[in-house]
Formats: sequence, structure tokens, C-alpha cells
Amino acid sequence: MNEPLSFVHPTADSPWGTYLSQIDRVVPYLGRLARWTETLRRPKRTLIVDVPIEMDDGTIAHYEGYRVQHSLTRGPGKGGVRYHPDVTLEEVMALSAWMSIKNAAVNLPFGGAKGGIRVDPKRLSMKELEKLTRRYTSEIGIIIGPTQDIPAPDVNTNAQIMAWMMDTYSMNVGGTATGVVTGKPIHLGGSLGRVKATGRGVFVTGREAARRLGLNLDGARVAVQGFGNVGSSAAELFGQAGAKIVAIQDHSGTIRNEQGFDLADLMPHVHEAGGVGGFKGGEAMHGEEFWDTPCDILIVAALEGQITADRARRIRAKLVLEGANGPTVPSADDILADRGVLVVPDVICNAGGVTVSYFEWVQDFSSFFWTEDEINVRLDKIMVGALKNIWDTADHHKISLRTATFAVACERILSAREERGLYP
Ligand code: NAD
Repeated sequence: MNEPLSFVHPTADSPWGTYLSQIDRVVPYLGRLARWTETLRRPKRTLIVDVPIEMDDGTIAHYEGYRVQHSLTRGPGKGGVRYHPDVTLEEVMALSAWMSIKNAAVNLPFGGAKGGIRVDPKRLSMKELEKLTRRYTSEIGIIIGPTQDIPAPDVNTNAQIMAWMMDTYSMNVGGTATGVVTGKPIHLGGSLGRVKATGRGVFVTGREAARRLGLNLDGARVAVQGFGNVGSSAAELFGQAGAKIVAIQDHSGTIRNEQGFDLADLMPHVHEAGGVGGFKGGEAMHGEEFWDTPCDILIVAALEGQITADRARRIRAKLVLEGANGPTVPSADDILADRGVLVVPDVICNAGGVTVSYFEWVQDFSSFFWTEDEINVRLDKIMVGALKNIWDTADHHKISLRTATFAVACERILSAREERGLYP
């Protein structure tokens, strides 16, 4: 008898509810392994921590932090840390589960984990951000480590935050442990190519999907939601392949340019202004209009739940690339499929970041570092191979790329589960 989890109350479109419905859809394709499916519906370990810090004005502020290890069956936990005012335990649980699927889909020797703090980091000074990061790292230090669980950057976290995490963990264990986090600065055991790896993976999977659709990237119209690390790196590579970036939306505004944005002009504006809003090389438009943009490729690279059923009916793209995690709710997925819009799902589309994180972890262990060319070539090869395997599975069962990715990944996770057996 499986008692329902008492600490989460998912709805159909909430992140954990979305994940559960994705698991329901894959069960018919798991054969004898289906008897282990319940292990995927429960995170292995869930940690909630209080993160108190002394603010610059002398007051004491408390933040809620999380680290969830969804599965450690295929290897150490692996997944980013998010700083955002909307972070909840349920969201972190879903993100950790998607990491299990993603890591298995590209066959990396990792389980899935994710962390986060419910905080608006834009309201903190650098000193406060450092204190928050160090205290959080200490609090979750009991379950992370180079062979236990390896955090990385996600929304609003970056290489500097990873450096503080690495330093704090290292101080606590009494030795330099570069392999405890990935996405570090290059001088601290970081990997070349990591910063842009997720965007590069979005481009590689998009390029392969476009080729199969007979869609020429040269002159293709691309709309991008989320212009941070993932969205801007992917847009840059599509731009280099000859595509026109005709609409961009981020938290600061929505802009369009029928001729295609000049990204060399736009990037400095984003760095200075903190977003695309106010950019003079395009025209501002209302946020909701973004979803009506006529385009060939839509890249969603912001947050979960952005493609709702209503927006799915209006999207005018042939191909949707999920740079973000969980951007499409299940009802919207069905609408897109009915309308013949091909979706390359998050669990393969944005796996480039964790793939190069894996390269970083391997390089840290061997203390031998590769060139950026080697990284990019290996990344391309892994992503192309993984996508082909998923595509073959989708064709074989006549299922969506999402369910096929779950089928490939769940088969690997549950086979490992069965081979390890239950202890005791
Ligand atoms: P980021 O913080 O660099 O960028 C986030 C972007 O989303 C920003 O442009 C922000 O303005 C925009 N945004 C936030 N709220 C928005 C809203 N309501 N409407 C429109 N835009 C909004 O983060 P990132 O690292 O680029 O991550 C983006 C997504 O990609 C997340 O879902 C993340 O989990 C996923 N992802 C990131 C990585 C990685 O390596 N960074 C890897 C895999 C998946």
C-alpha cells in the first residue's frame, strides 16, 4: 500500500503534478519494470533548511532553503540551485525529478537533485548574497559532496555563487573539494564551455529537429522567452546559423524586430539594464502578444508553466525548444501535439548544461583539463546520439518525444534500481 506524500499537494498544472502526469504517461511502455514505478513518484530525500543571515543594516533575516535528492540510484545527485522569490518545496521536488530523467536520458552516471532558496536575490547586496550562499551550503553540507550530490547554477545563481559554495564546503571538510559543485570559475576547476553549454545543447537539439522537419535555419524566424544564460546563448548560436531573432521576452519587457535583432547591440544593453526592456533596436510590445508571434522556432528559456493551454492554442511556431525546465503544462502538451507543433522536451533539450557539468566533474577528479573545442565536440556528439535514440523510441512506439525521453530514462533508472535491489 502506498501512502500519498503528506508534504506536497500538487494540482494538474503545478510542477510536481506535471511531473506525475508525465510518469503516468510512460508507465505503459515500461514492461516488467513498471512494478518499480512508485520509486519515481517519491523523492528519496527532502531537506528543508532555515538560512538566517545578518543583513547590512544589522537586522537578522531568515530564508527558507531546500535540497531534494529525487534519485541516487544511478550515481550521485546532480542538479542546480535556484534563488527566486517563488521557489517552493514542490517546485524543487519537480526540478530534482526532471534532473533524474535528464541525466538518465543522456546516460550520465548521476541521479537527480535540485536545490533552492526562496529569496529575491536582486534585493540583496553582494555581501548578503555571499552570507546567504555560505550559510545555505553549510546547512545542506550534510548531504552534498563530490560523490554524494553535486550542485550547479540555475536561475539567478552563477559561477561566483558556485565559488562560495565550493569554498564553504572545502573549509568545512578541511581540504579543497573542487568536485563538490560544477559551473565554477575557470581558475577554481571550472570547465571551458560550461557557461554556454545549456544554450548550446538547445541549439544542437533544435538544429537536429529542424533538419528532420526540413526546416532551414538560414532565415528561420525565432522567438525567445527568457534571455538569461540559456536563452541568450541559444539565440546567439541560432543567429550564427543564419536565423533571425524576431521577438524576445524577459522579466523586464517584451520586444520585437521584424528584421531580426542585432545581438551584438542587444547584449551590452541587457548587461547594463538587467534585461531586454528599453532596448532601442526594437519595438516594445505587450507581454501576452509574445505568444502570437509568427515564427518557425519558439525557445522557452524562463520558468515553469509558461505554455498554458490558452497559449498553446495561439503559438504559431513549427518547433518548440524547451530550454527551461517544465515550461509546458500537460494540457498544453496535448494541444501542441494535436496542432502538429513539435516539442523538443526540456529533459533532452536543456541537457547540455549538465553534460558539460559532468565533463567538469570528471576533469576535477582527474585534475586534467580539456580544450573548449574538445568540450563542444563531445557535447555535440552526446546530444545528437541521445536525441537519435529518443527519436527512434518515439517512432517505434508512436509517442511524443517527451514520453519517449521518459521511456529511455525510466528504463535506465528502473533497471539500475532492480539490479541494486532494495536494502535490506
Ligand atoms: P537566468 O537567471 O540566467 O535567466 C532567466 C531568464 O528568465 C531571464 O532572462 C529572466 O528575465 C527571465 N524571466 C524570469 N521570469 C520571467 C517571466 N515571468 N517572464 C518572462 N521571462 C522571465 O536563468 P537560466 O540559467 O538561463 O535558466 C533559465 C531556465 O533554464 C530555467 O528554467 C532553468 O531551470 C533552465 N535550465 C538552466 C540551466 C543552466 O545551465 N543555467 C540548465 C538547464 C536548465
